[in-house]
Amino acid sequence: MIDIKNYNNNNVFAKILRKEIPSKKVYEDEYAFAFEDISPQAPVHILIIPKKPFCSFDDFLEKADDTFILGFIKSIKLINKCLNIKNGYRLITNVGLHGGQEVPHLHFHLLSGDFSKKLVSS
Ligand code: AMP
Repeated sequence: MIDIKNYNNNNVFAKILRKEIPSKKVYEDEYAFAFEDISPQAPVHILIIPKKPFCSFDDFLEKADDTFILGFIKSIKLINKCLNIKNGYRLITNVGLHGGQEVPHLHFHLLSGDFSKKLVSS
């Protein structure tokens, strides 16, 4: 079970930020780093992570200052522009055990392209 109360400096995304392991970068600014998911679930599947150590979205909302929160959230728009996303996207962040979070560094999944997975079936 992952620990999302105490930040683990050796999680895979911390290593990506430190360039200890490679990633396919699509965007970077002072707040955010975005790269391709290694196991894409849609034609476009990007992971967006803050360049500071937050375990989860909860941890981020609790500990990040307002300037960083705003800068990080706004980076999502810039990433969309960079990726030339025109027909919409899905943004997901998994938190903790019941959210299905596997990597204990906050990340948003940005999914786009022609994929038809519904979150709630009709
Ligand atoms: P989550 O289940 O929300 O914690 O998502 C973790 C995501 O990280 C999964 O979609 C994995 O495919 C992805 N992932 C794990 N290791 C890497 C890696 N080295 N490079 C890119 N994506 C990764």
